[in-house]
Amino acid sequence: MKPNRVLVVGSYVVDLMSRTPHMPRTGETVLGGPFRMGAGGKGGNQAAAAARLGAKVSLVTKVGDDEFGRSAMSHFQAEGIRTDWVTVDPEEATGVALILVDDNKDNQIVVSLGACGTLSREDVEKVEADLAASDIVLIQLETNLDAVGTALNLADKHHIPSILNPAPYQPFDRTWLKYAAYITPNETEASALTEMEVNDPDSAASAARLLADWGARSVLITLGGKGVVLRESTGQCWHIPPYQVEVKDTTGAGDAFNGGFAHALSVGKSALEAALYASAVAALSVTRVGTAVSMPQESEVLELME
Ligand code: ADP
Repeated sequence: MKPNRVLVVGSYVVDLMSRTPHMPRTGETVLGGPFRMGAGGKGGNQAAAAARLGAKVSLVTKVGDDEFGRSAMSHFQAEGIRTDWVTVDPEEATGVALILVDDNKDNQIVVSLGACGTLSREDVEKVEADLAASDIVLIQLETNLDAVGTALNLADKHHIPSILNPAPYQPFDRTWLKYAAYITPNETEASALTEMEVNDPDSAASAARLLADWGARSVLITLGGKGVVLRESTGQCWHIPPYQVEVKDTTGAGDAFNGGFAHALSVGKSALEAALYASAVAALSVTRVGTAVSMPQESEVLELME
């Protein structure tokens, strides 16, 4: 078996989630329902997804010198994520996401990135040797863009394929599109990137084509319960319908997809095979509540794909 090494550069935050009968208006205090706390952040979630599937995952992130930072380290160890490149920042607090979910299952989220928002060019340059020995590099936009650009450039320099998950969307240097081997926006991010309305497979295919015109190589646009559109670097386009599952909580579906996609590519699957595999990983994650905790094991994925 080929060792499969995935390097994830991104965020770690603690999710602090309260249920509420309705969203508070300005100045209002609402007596909420149950509270739940868990590991989150797109980098951490995608790292957990790939690690549960069997990848050797290193996470490049920062946490604070506080209780949440210490619980992050225990969480990474429990998930089998290498922590060599998790830096403890003495100045900043560990990131948190304050999440409200109301009775309609709508949510409002404020993310304070704290320590992981200060990930710098130098923090990424320090891991160059490890990055060069990876099979795939997985990056999101939930951190300092200097770190994102550095990771993309280093991956390109060492000919290591990278996945850029442009989430949450923030404007970035369009030349990055040609450094990433794969770009994986969801419908909202694809709409923001292209200024086109992306909400179904046809509009996703048009947006993917525009991204390719701008220099993107392979494009995957995830469409929630409508599946995913893959446009390969050859121009060939596929729509992968979703697996039919009983949906409990779709938060983290995109993270499951990206972690699964990275793992599958790292063991040598083609883009199409990896997208099918990632769809199964993401479908399983929506059958469970939570983000990092909802990521499946490889045996479950293989069973769903049978
Ligand atoms: P994000 O969480 O970034 O918004 P999406 O909602 O697009 O990501 O979901 C990512 C992938 O998860 C989809 O492309 C699909 O494969 C899978 N998925 C999402 N929602 C469902 C669903 N209701 N049923 C089955 N699969 C789903």
